[in-house]
Amino acid sequence: HQGNNNLRPRFLRCLLSTMSSTQPPRVPNLIGGSFVDSQASSHIDVINPATQEVVSQVPLTTNEEFKAAVSAAKQAFPSWRNTPITTRQRVMLKFQELIRKNMDKLALSITTEQGKTLKDAHGDIFRGLEVVEHACGMATLQMGEYVPNVSNGVDTYSLREPLGVCAGICPFNFPAMIPLWMFPIAVTCGNTFVLKPSEKDPGASVMLAELAMEAGLPNGVLNIVHGTNDTVNAICDDDDIRAVSFVGSNTAGMHIYARAAAKGKRIQSNMGAKNHGVVLPDAHVDATLNALLAAGFGAAGQRCMALSTVVFVGNSKSWEDKLVERAKALKVSCGTEPDADLGPVISKQAKERICRLIQSGVDDGAKLLLDGRNIVVPGYEKGNFIGPTILSGVTPDMECYKEEIFGPVLVCMEASSFDEAIDILNRNKYGNGAAIFTSSGAAARKFQMEIEAGQIGINVPIPVPLPFFSFTGNKASFAGDLNFYGKAGVDFFTQIKTVTQQWKDIPTSVSLAMPTSQ
Ligand code: NAD
Repeated sequence: HQGNNNLRPRFLRCLLSTMSSTQPPRVPNLIGGSFVDSQASSHIDVINPATQEVVSQVPLTTNEEFKAAVSAAKQAFPSWRNTPITTRQRVMLKFQELIRKNMDKLALSITTEQGKTLKDAHGDIFRGLEVVEHACGMATLQMGEYVPNVSNGVDTYSLREPLGVCAGICPFNFPAMIPLWMFPIAVTCGNTFVLKPSEKDPGASVMLAELAMEAGLPNGVLNIVHGTNDTVNAICDDDDIRAVSFVGSNTAGMHIYARAAAKGKRIQSNMGAKNHGVVLPDAHVDATLNALLAAGFGAAGQRCMALSTVVFVGNSKSWEDKLVERAKALKVSCGTEPDADLGPVISKQAKERICRLIQSGVDDGAKLLLDGRNIVVPGYEKGNFIGPTILSGVTPDMECYKEEIFGPVLVCMEASSFDEAIDILNRNKYGNGAAIFTSSGAAARKFQMEIEAGQIGINVPIPVPLPFFSFTGNKASFAGDLNFYGKAGVDFFTQIKTVTQQWKDIPTSVSLAMPTSQ
């Protein structure tokens, strides 16, 4: 991979020194082991959301380039699938080491393109790194089953075989974690991969691919194509792609689910959310308030597991007063500022949409306890900042409740009983996550049993499972059968072959009846 390694410092240098250069660097595709500039006629600016500076330009990859990437993945498959699993694991072992070594550079790229604070960017990478660590044990995870002597002299065993070329389509909010949910498991199972990063922050994906190649991933095993709808549709339609992993909004996710399924592909589609936190009067006050602040405003609310709605059981006034007081103390600034608690939202359009949803809440009769819309951040006046915002007295019919806001906005509701709170949550169309704050084990257990969301937190605000479990959103937050990572992730990237073998003396008579076990 000599050639690829030579390119690595070039892209890193370009990306990290944008401020002084006049021409922003073009983000390369990765095709068959080479980082290549696209011949695309159109590019999209990748914009630093805290400053509006153009960080780089991402190509709308041409169809020929897309086909070349799929063809490279297809060509690499036969030899990669036959590469010993121990060798594939060792590539991941080296890869996780290189990610650790390059953590700061990756984090700076994420903060520059996506806006989250450097500390949060480290968390983004670390959560992905843990999936890579898990993939290092793939030989055990991918084991088949064996039953000896199912009939006289006959044994049956099953193998988990890779599918072939798989593809991943990523959202903007976790530029490292989500690509790392996808390709490390896919390739360690023996598949080859085509990754389509978010066009809003593709830098981390390119850096991760550079590191994966440096770790020993052979040419063509991982490919990257940039773009938007056309590239995504090409992935859905391509006959050589066997499976598609998608994370993003419901509009795109359901479109991809239908279009790729029509071509007979496997799909796992993680989509939008409206996660509720139920606060019972017996909850620990300090711990609960801190959890609500962190999960509501962290990453400027741009997490699919953000706790964007709080349902207070009983009177909410004293809780809300304290929440407002603490939220006011949070520091909003550029993510590279050491004391920043939350950075900007991803784009001007996102800011406008969030502000519109806040106003819709006010118009519908909610009380705006804290308004972050007009915040000005000294030194970053052009940034897409919104300060922590709290709406109270929200009801299920309001648009600000029904829509996923995806910004630093906490929507507060009241329920007169625990049962009413459970009912509110279960009537919501999404089912990604839900949390309860209480000191009652019985209440927590009832919540766990009755809530329809796929990931439950008990005094834990963002219950994203570690990679030995899976990410298990349900209802409108997920489409498909097999979730991301964990056992389900391995199942998604493998198909079962069942072998029945007979080793005994040659039978002397012929029987045309269906064989039965005897
Ligand atoms: P998005 O749907 O706009 O974009 C995701 C990807 O789909 C991008 O790569 C984009 O290029 C592509 N895309 C967008 N519109 C498309 C279309 N019409 N046709 C084909 N492709 C299209 O999502 P986003 O704004 O980048 O991410 C935010 C969303 O992702 C939120 O809804 C959030 O809840 C969700 N999300 C969910 C999870 C989860 O695990 N459930 C995790 C992270 C983010």
